[in-house]
Amino acid sequence: MRDFFLYNTLGRSVDSFKPIEAGKVGFYGCGPTVYNYAHIGNLRTYIFEDLLVRALRRSGYAVTHVMNVTDVGHLTGDDDSGEDKMVKSAEERGQGVLDIARFYTDAFFNDTGRLNIERPDIVCKATDHVSDMIALIGRIEAGGFTYFAGGNLYFDVSKFPRYGDLALLKLDELKAGARIEVDANKRNPADFVLWFTKGKFEKQALVWDSPWGRGYPGWHIECSAMSMKYLGESIDIHAGGIDHVPIHHTNEIAQSEAATGKKWVNWWLHGEFLVLSKDGVKGKMSKSKGGFLTLQSLVDAGYHPLDYRFFCLGAHYRSQLQFSIEGLDSARSARKSLNDSVLSLRQKAGAVALPAVADLGPAAASRVGAFLDAVAGDLALPRALAELWGLLRDPAIPPAEALAAAFDMDRILALGLADLEKPKEASIDPEFAARVEALIAKRAVAKKAKDFSTSDAIRAEIISLGVVLADSPSGSTWKLAPKDGTTASTP
Ligand code: AMP
Ligand code: ZN
Repeated sequence: MRDFFLYNTLGRSVDSFKPIEAGKVGFYGCGPTVYNYAHIGNLRTYIFEDLLVRALRRSGYAVTHVMNVTDVGHLTGDDDSGEDKMVKSAEERGQGVLDIARFYTDAFFNDTGRLNIERPDIVCKATDHVSDMIALIGRIEAGGFTYFAGGNLYFDVSKFPRYGDLALLKLDELKAGARIEVDANKRNPADFVLWFTKGKFEKQALVWDSPWGRGYPGWHIECSAMSMKYLGESIDIHAGGIDHVPIHHTNEIAQSEAATGKKWVNWWLHGEFLVLSKDGVKGKMSKSKGGFLTLQSLVDAGYHPLDYRFFCLGAHYRSQLQFSIEGLDSARSARKSLNDSVLSLRQKAGAVALPAVADLGPAAASRVGAFLDAVAGDLALPRALAELWGLLRDPAIPPAEALAAAFDMDRILALGLADLEKPKEASIDPEFAARVEALIAKRAVAKKAKDFSTSDAIRAEIISLGVVLADSPSGSTWKLAPKDGTTASTP
């Protein structure tokens, strides 16, 4: 297993990664609030998490990746201000909250699929886990960390001395008004709601019974409840976008550790923002404030989704990345030359089977080693990419080895390099298919009647149509013969 070094927001340093259980990683990433399409900034964060999971797996760790889908409780302000994002979106579109959630959840996974982001092992919806949240809130209340005011149950941050450690916040400064107080019921400005029954309650579409009255959960509690349910009370890595450090993740830590009395997350990883350049002014891309770019809008403009993935690989995840069409154009042409290099290597290598990674010669093996070292060094993807380019351009590396090494690197980069050489499925004319099916049926009748000369003649006729036939006890299947003339059918 390769040593991994990661930057932990908690402590603000790059340290050698040690999971709780050797060889295994429990990984939780905050998922989407499904009230709108993901914008390409959100998708940058999910690409970063995908790279992390893929890199850990390639380095030998068995990763369990859990992601929540927020379909209740996330207000337009992360600090409990504003309306429920789901309810607002449903009202604006004149649809039910759950219809909106289903639509944008599908849209989200459609986008992540197009970006070659692996689906997490466990995807869990907030509305399916309200009883887990109620049970967790009960533990927090039993520990004396809550108060009830104005119909809502609040977490009292003054009862949790480590509050703000992640974000290097000082409670005194918060008290002095570092955050705008929007809720007169709060004892401290940073207190947050665990369970709502009032406030935005009148318009709330989905409500549940609870010991604190009929209502709905606050946003932060869902991540604590679901991560504990699927990964246990202490987890290895929790990731998300950098905006979540001061409120969402800070609150998640307070309530989780208040409930269990244990350290909850060992490694906090945060991806920096994608920023828009507008008239030279840097701007934050925001889903709730509108004016954002979706993956589909890039596709409509003629880009491949993987051009955007490639664009994101060009910057370290802890650096802001400025989005521009010029930048995306460069990513597109670089990805094209990458694909061209792979295809030309394939031509040079011929139809030989590629060597296993363990059997690579020293030059290719050293490129793979340097690539994996870069990745294991806090995901230094730009450095890792340089190793891929070096590999493809090294004339001393035999083409089959270069290909094998590139495909191995692509297990992490996920740019679809191995798919480039797969022949495209030819489309089959329905009339032709019906003719083949009819011959197969006629042959089956002849075989059943033990009329083998007829069945063999029909078989020859089928193959002469350019079809590969495979017989099995459950019947015959067929496909078009490859263009290289291989027509071997099973007898
Ligand atoms: P949301 O669906 O709003 O909860 O956001 C989903 C994820 O995207 C969270 O991890 C956010 O931190 C992250 N995020 C939001 N805006 C950006 C951005 N402009 N660049 C990168 N990540 C972002
Ligand atoms: Zn979360």
